[in-house]
Amino acid sequence: MASIFSRIVNGEIPCYKIAEDDRYFAFLDINPLAKGHTLVIPKKETDYIFELDDELLAGMMVFAKKVALAIEKTVPCKRIGIAVLGLEVPHAHIHLIPINSLGDINFSNPKLKFSSDEFSALAGEIVKNLDL
Ligand code: 5GP
Repeated sequence: MASIFSRIVNGEIPCYKIAEDDRYFAFLDINPLAKGHTLVIPKKETDYIFELDDELLAGMMVFAKKVALAIEKTVPCKRIGIAVLGLEVPHAHIHLIPINSLGDINFSNPKLKFSSDEFSALAGEIVKNLDL
């Protein structure tokens, strides 16, 4: 069965899309640790990020960089932190999280709530700042 992220890529489940090319897809995390928390995935469904072949993994980081720079332009923060966990969804993904201090990237923190309008507006702002 397709992963929830493959279903998002295929348009079966809605998302707040940030960026897409032939190999990668980025969208807002629905339970964000911080405003602008975004997930970057390879379209090819693979559970563990270190099972990706070298070229796909390297390209994912370059794609993530472009998305991160757009988030950074949009959301005031010191920098964009990155994390890879994969404990919940078995489809490789990089978390991009605006941070100001160490505590901002603690996955035990309560998640933020945004309305659909707020998510859409934020995604639109990040997309405007993308330089793909
Ligand atoms: P991890 O697998 O890295 O431990 O966590 C998976 C992440 O995916 C979580 O931050 C969770 O909020 C996010 N997530 C899970 N299901 C969905 C979904 O259907 N849509 C979106 N946008 N994010 C999701």
